[in-house]
Amino acid sequence: MSLLDQFYGNSKAKEALVFYQRDGRFPHGILLEGQEGCGRRTFARLIAAAALCEGEDAPCGRCRHCRKILKEIHPDVQLIAPEPGKKSFKKEQVERLRADAWVKPNEAPRKIYILCETQYMTAWAQNALLKLLEEPPAGVLFLLTCDNRFKLLETVRSRVVALTLEAPGEELAEKALLEQVPALTQQQARLAAMESSGNVGRAKRLLADEGYAAVMDKAAALCEKMEKADWFGILQVLSGFESDREGLLQCLEQVRQLLAQNTKDSFFAKKDRQYRILPLQAGQVLGIIEQGMEYARQNMGMPLLTTWLGAGIGSAFEK
Ligand SMILES: [Zn+2]
Repeated sequence: MSLLDQFYGNSKAKEALVFYQRDGRFPHGILLEGQEGCGRRTFARLIAAAALCEGEDAPCGRCRHCRKILKEIHPDVQLIAPEPGKKSFKKEQVERLRADAWVKPNEAPRKIYILCETQYMTAWAQNALLKLLEEPPAGVLFLLTCDNRFKLLETVRSRVVALTLEAPGEELAEKALLEQVPALTQQQARLAAMESSGNVGRAKRLLADEGYAAVMDKAAALCEKMEKADWFGILQVLSGFESDREGLLQCLEQVRQLLAQNTKDSFFAKKDRQYRILPLQAGQVLGIIEQGMEYARQNMGMPLLTTWLGAGIGSAFEK
């Protein structure tokens, strides 16, 4: 199995990569364009692995080159990015690259440079890179990432092959998250996938955020209490937000997304109906939640709002 099978969506970019690999000829420069979080760096590493792989089904993930690239310790695959918190490349970074590109590789047949966020390269830096792209040292492969190719100089764009990457969508993002983030429940993966519009990188950042995780737990708790028609439990969870308007809005939005799945015969509902809440009840609760979110935005007092919500949601489950 090739590592490409674990990179979801983006069939065009993957086909191009398979073509280069089979052909044994990679362009000198490949530009990976796409929104932040859609896997540009990951895909750049996959290209690097495919270019150096010694196994079958390249990139195999098992040969010495693949393993080192995945661990980010391959001496001939360098990642160059703006320093954390900075948005531009330092002059020294570019000068070092220009000198280093002419030095022979350590252990691989070629050297590969991954240049991240090249939309932040100054015209000077891009022109310095252009010289390398025009007459690249033998075997050197440049992989550039950017959010929008038109932020680069036309002269640079014309020297590279551009591949566009896209977020794989909610269903595939959920699958990817379950594979990549340890101890994630299906429901957490689903929510994060929905809230990030199917962008795996963004979903991972959301999941790593402590505030988000706490809100997500409360949204799940609310749904569980509803499932049990536990009115007191519902009130208890809601009262935890009495001094946190923003948190309540986030939590209601998550519950809204979870319940919206119960009111339609969607992919998620078919796959596993997490909450046994009837579509009719889910619809009623959705109406209350949407009204509650409106009140929250209109600055209704929090104790009143949480009580109003608790009473409304509770009444949907009266037997
Ligand atoms: Zn390999």
